[in-house]
Formats: sequence, C-alpha cells, structure tokens
Amino acid sequence: MAGFEIFDDRFRALLQPDSRLERLCTGAVWSEGPVYFAEGDYVLWSDIPNNRMLRWSAGEGMSVFRQPANFTNGHYRDLQGRLVSCEHGGRRISRTEPDGTVVTLVDNYQGKRLNSPNDLVVKSDGTIWFSDPPYGILSNREGYQAESELGANYVFRYDPQTDALTIVVDDVVEPNGLAFSPDESLLYVADTSAAFDPHGNHHIRVYEVVDGKTATNGRLFVEVNPGLADGFRVDQHGHIFTSSADSIQVYHPDSQLLGKILVPEKVSNCTFGGPDKNRLFITASTSLYAITLNTQGAQKP
Ligand code: MG
Repeated sequence: MAGFEIFDDRFRALLQPDSRLERLCTGAVWSEGPVYFAEGDYVLWSDIPNNRMLRWSAGEGMSVFRQPANFTNGHYRDLQGRLVSCEHGGRRISRTEPDGTVVTLVDNYQGKRLNSPNDLVVKSDGTIWFSDPPYGILSNREGYQAESELGANYVFRYDPQTDALTIVVDDVVEPNGLAFSPDESLLYVADTSAAFDPHGNHHIRVYEVVDGKTATNGRLFVEVNPGLADGFRVDQHGHIFTSSADSIQVYHPDSQLLGKILVPEKVSNCTFGGPDKNRLFITASTSLYAITLNTQGAQKP
C-alpha cells in the first residue's frame, strides 16, 4: 500500500480502505503540540520558533490563534474542556480560561523554577502529568536561554485541586512525550536525550501506575528509529502512535512495530480528533497533516 510500511498484518485492521495522508496546511517553522476541539471541529498547535499558536479548520484553513504565545509546546484539554499548555517561555503549565485569560497553574517545584515543560496529559481524575526537559532553556530558539534551577529532568504530576506537585518519574534522561494506556494502568514516557547527544536515548519507557498517583517498575518499551518519539498518542486498543523522523510509527502494546504511516517531513507529535475520533492529526515540521483511520483515540475529551 502506497504511503505505508507494514511489518505486521495487524496494522491493516487499523486502516480504512481509503486511508491516506493529507497535508492540511503549511507555513510553520517547527510544529508541535496538536490538540483537537470537537465543538468547533478545529485543531490548535504550536509553531515554537515563531512563538505562536496556530489554528486550522476545514472551513477556515490556517490562522494565527495567539502570538506571542510564551513559546508554548504541548497542549491538552482538562476535564472541563479548557486548554492547558506547556510553556517554554513562561516555564510553566498554563490554562486558558473560557474568556481567553491565561493563568499559571504551576511554575516551580519547591521554589525552583521548572526547566521548560514540553508535553502533558490530563488523567481522568483531572491531574496533569507533564515532562520537563531543558529544550526551551538551552538557547533562545524555542524559549529563553537560562540555567536549570532543578538540575534534573522529571515527569511531574500536578493536582489542580490541591496545588500539589510531585515527581513521578526521575529515571528518564530527557523526558518528552507521554501518554497513558486506555485504562490508565500504564504510563509511557519518551526519552529524547539523543536530540543533542549522539549517544543519547531515542526510546519510550513504560511504567506501572500505582494508586493512580505514582509510576513504578519502569522498563524499556521500544527504541524508535529513525529520529525521536517526541510525542505520541494511544488509541482505544492501546496501540501507540508515535512520532519519528520518517513517519508515525504504530506499536502494539506488546512492543511490536506494526507499521508506519509515512510522512514527508520530520514528525513531532499527533492527536486524535474529528467528529468520529478516528482522524489522526499530525504535526510535522512546517505542516499539519491528517489521516482517517479505523480506530479511535483513547484520549478524552
Ligand atoms: Mg515534545
């Protein structure tokens, strides 16, 4: 099949007969952090070096949603549907209120500023789990160059109800994309320390979630080649749809690479959306792509 590489026949069941990649729009420098809004059938995402957020809908095409945007990276929606965002520039997790006001949820751990929150997920209990690698403070390209105050890179869990911030993963060199399995018993975390270190990691680890609050027993899930698992999402069956340099790679929960959805630009991230939750929106370098699949995203809303 043109546009795909198939390594395992189970991949075919995830495709529709006419599934094909579409480029929806282009014009960004580095696209990241797609998030879907069903109520308007549109996608928001970050164009990080341009310090802006973009919006795309079928009716209106691409437009600038916010600029400047505090160098936002990953986005998600909370249980009330509000936009929550990782900001390199603000070194914080922010929330956009229904009236458009942007408020800080959390920006420090025990008084030390976060590095540069990169990607996040909202759990079904409303807590926000996010990665905090240094990519937004290494230079002025995707944020503001600064020293790390924490001196380490963690995955955190933030509870908006209590304002508590706790470390859930401390053994990933540079944590980046993250996602829960559909039943939230597993937490997947990418290590992208190969981004600036040829000897670094380009893999995804998986942890057991204990009491819904901590992650333990981490182990290697898959090594991703070529490129990095910058961002990924999980479908209703637990398959992992991850970025890489040449494609969206689709992994079975048993770690088998099922197939690739080939993308002509380096992929950063993806999110499920569309009226039937079966459309995968893909941010890849300058462009936003989409493909309709025969599966639905596990994420809510
Ligand atoms: Mg990322």
